[in-house]
Amino acid sequence: MIGLGSNLGERDKNIRTALEKMKEKGIELLRVSSVLETEPYGYTDQPKFLNAVCLVETNLTPDQLLDVLLEIEKEMGRVRERKWGPRIIDLDIIFYEDLVLESERLIVPHPDMHNRWFVLAPLAEICPDYVHPKLKKTVRELLQELTRRR
Ligand code: ATP
Ligand code: CA
Ligand code: CA
Repeated sequence: MIGLGSNLGERDKNIRTALEKMKEKGIELLRVSSVLETEPYGYTDQPKFLNAVCLVETNLTPDQLLDVLLEIEKEMGRVRERKWGPRIIDLDIIFYEDLVLESERLIVPHPDMHNRWFVLAPLAEICPDYVHPKLKKTVRELLQELTRRR
């Protein structure tokens, strides 16, 4: 499961381009959520985001998948300035099957996904019953909890 976000330039086009590039690199798109406009997270003084998530099928290992995603970000001209700052495109691995993995460069499931409406809302659209392998709760439950907390 991959999360996409963009808040610079032609945001909608950026999301589409990233999806196209994933396909070109052999990542099969099984389901793609709708694209939602969301408030910036963390550092709030920046343009609104468009966010989506997609369910993919791939032979790539998590590490290889991260490499491909970072490569796409680079090809699309992303420059990393500040953490959570504005970006043309951001591609995060949200889940990888029911794998739990914590390495220096990759944490799966994404460690903050359960606190993010912009991840959980589109996720609930395409896979509400998916169980978070660490928190042992469905996406629907995580979204409900987050909504209650806010
Ligand atoms: P956040 O990860 O909190 O959403 P971010 O997406 O803005 O923040 P980036 O600058 O895009 O952070 O990524 C920094 C590094 O995070 C990447 O180079 C990658 O090595 C690491 N990383 C760890 N876990 C993941 C993951 N699940 N998906 C994508 N990158 C990850
Ligand atoms: Ca991110
Ligand atoms: Ca990222």
